[in-house]
Parts: sequence; C-alpha cells; structure tokens
Amino acid sequence: MTTGMASASDSFIYNALPARVVFRRGGREAVREEMERLGRKRVMVLSTAGRIALAEEIAEYLGDLAIGVLPKAVMHAPVEVTEAVLGELRDAGADCTVAVGGGSTIGLAKAIALRANMPQIAIPTTYAGSEMTAVLGQTKDGVKTTSRDLRMLPLSVIYDVDLSLGLPPSTSATSGLNAIAHAIEALYAKDRNPVTSPQCVQAIELMVDALPRIVEQPNDVGARSQALLGAFLCGHALGSVGMALHHKLCHTLGGSFNLPHAETHSIILPHAAAFNEMAAADALDAVNGVLGGEGVGLGLWQLARRIGAPAALADIGMPEDGLGKAADIAASNPYWNPRTFTRDDILQLLQAAYRGERPDAVSGSSR
Ligand code: NAD
Repeated sequence: MTTGMASASDSFIYNALPARVVFRRGGREAVREEMERLGRKRVMVLSTAGRIALAEEIAEYLGDLAIGVLPKAVMHAPVEVTEAVLGELRDAGADCTVAVGGGSTIGLAKAIALRANMPQIAIPTTYAGSEMTAVLGQTKDGVKTTSRDLRMLPLSVIYDVDLSLGLPPSTSATSGLNAIAHAIEALYAKDRNPVTSPQCVQAIELMVDALPRIVEQPNDVGARSQALLGAFLCGHALGSVGMALHHKLCHTLGGSFNLPHAETHSIILPHAAAFNEMAAADALDAVNGVLGGEGVGLGLWQLARRIGAPAALADIGMPEDGLGKAADIAASNPYWNPRTFTRDDILQLLQAAYRGERPDAVSGSSR
C-alpha cells in the first residue's frame, strides 16, 4: 500500500454516512418505488430552468405522488432563492423533494431540508458529487458559507447513466474535474483514512480514463457509467473527510465573484495540487502514475487541456482587480491544508490561474 494512505495498522476515525444508492439504467423509474418505500405522498420535483423537461418527466414517473415541478434552482444556493422556494413548498403542502440535476438543484433541496426538515431524493445528472454529502454552501450578501447537517443528506440517490448522456462535453469535462478535485483533496486530507483513500485512487483512475472518451464520444454509455461511478466515489470522499486550500479558493471565487462552479474548480485544481504537491507527496503518489507520472498538478493541467476545460480565470469572468480581495478572503479563516501558506502565496497562485499558466510543483513547508 502506498505510504500516503493510512495503513490498516494506523489509528484513524471514519465517519460513515447513511447512504442508500440505487445505480441502474432506467433508474428514474425507481423514483416512485423509492418514494413509496419512504411513505411520502406529496412530492415536489426541483430542477434548474434548463432541466424543466426532465423534471416534468420525473413527475410523470411519480404519478399521483407528484404535486408539481419547481425549476428554480440556481448556482451557489442564494438564500433569497431558497426562502422563496420554501414558501412555495409550504403553500403546496409538499412533504418531500426530488432534486433532478446537478449540484445547484441538489443544493436547493439541501437548503430546504435544513430549514424545513423536508427530505430529498437526489437524481444527479452531473459529476459534482453533492448528493453524497451532508454539506451545503449557501450564498448571502456575496459570501459563501458552508454548513454540515445530516438532515441534508438525501434519503436515496438514484444514478441513471441515461440522464447524464445529454450533459454537453464541455460541462462533462469541467464537472468531471470538479469530482476529481474532491478526491485529490480527500487523499491529502487531515482525516484521510484507509477507507476513503483507496476509493479516491479508484475514482481518479475511473475519471481520468472516462473523461477524454466522453469528450470524444458523449454518447459512450460505458465511459459515462464509469464517470458516474467515479463521481459517486469522489462525492463519497467529499462527504467523508475535510477539504483543504483548493475548496476554500473555489468557494471564495464562486461565492464572492459568482464564478461558475465547475469551471472554477477546473482552473484552480492543477495550481492547488501543484502548490500542495511536495507537502503531500506521500498522499498523492498513488495517483501520479495515472496522471502521467510527471507530477499531479502538471498531470491535472494536461488532462484539463486535453478535454477542453478552460485554463484561465480571466476567461470565466474573474476581474483582475478582484484577485487581492479573493486572496484576503481565502487567507482569512483558512481550511486546514497540508502546506502552510501566506496571503501572498495565495495571491501568486491566483495570479497564475488568472493568466492560465502551466503550474509547476513548488516546495513548501508541510504541517
Ligand atoms: P449545476 O447544477 O449548476 O449544473 C450546471 C448546468 O448544467 C445547469 O445549467 C444545469 O441545468 C445543466 N445540466 C445539469 N445536468 C445536465 C444534463 N444531464 N444535461 C444537460 N444539462 C445539464 O452545476 P454543478 O456543477 O453540478 O453544481 C454546482 C453547484 O453545486 C454549486 O453551487 C456548488 O457549490 C454545489 N456543490 C455542492 C457540493 C456539496 O457537497 N455541498 C458539491 C459539489 C457542488
């Protein structure tokens, strides 16, 4: 076993989350069975505006258990959207939600569950992994804050590969890199453990193999299934252990500059991985080979170029004069990170990501 993974003889704590996962083609048909199992009878289907047709299809599968469709989810779970949707759910007498879509829709259902104790079934159609966590990032007044509460964990998660076939290659690429980001940070997490670490290695192997195939042939069901399984494992890792600098930076850029979530992860990940590479060398060694063998940060950067993900924050709406503010926010209340850092380190990293530069692994003191 690679040295970076805690071995079975090490002491560790693993917090298992109660997850029920249904993984099957045609799985959307299972949504009614799942609802009957849970005894819920007044179900509201949530989605983003773009996924309304799918939400209506799911409502049809639910038949008389569905009371309607609310296609109102938007990215970064703004509190004002949650409160408006909660009002509509209460007026309609809903007793459960089905979130069909990506992390934005699942995040809305989590925010509802947190406030109204209303459970959700999640049907993920991206690779973001939110469905496997009890974590929610909500945005209020331009600041994204994270909370953790088991009531937000979906009661069932239904993975149906057919629902991911329509995800455009560009979104598949960035969403897949978002998933990989969870596994990379879980590998060097402070509370990494011999349960999640091997899953992270497997998940990264699955994603690295699947993503170029999906970009080339979006209807490749085998590659899509592989990516969905990888995303499930990455999401499980995200839900099981603490994240570090990379996630803090992405929360800052998403919450305070409204940058698109998956694209931001795709751009920052190679830089954050390179920044942490020396300090977390043991933990990352197990995935260096699958990423080309010349360093994990560089391998991720090359993968992102190969699958057509954006390289520069400048290209996804980041204002250059906002980099200093982003560094200030990210350096205040920092998450634990394997390598210590200063505000200037963060600024340099962000400047390189702003320009879309190729990252180089840098040495730095570890914790
Ligand atoms: P998203 O849910 O916003 O989806 C991106 C776009 O893709 C949307 O327009 C959506 O309508 C569309 N889409 C989704 N599935 C599709 C499909 N199969 N075919 C065609 N179009 C499709 O994006 P995301 O990256 O999945 O989620 C981002 C949000 O999730 C952010 O707010 C982020 O903070 C949150 N998130 C939370 C966690 C967590 O554990 N709390 C984890 C990951 C992401």
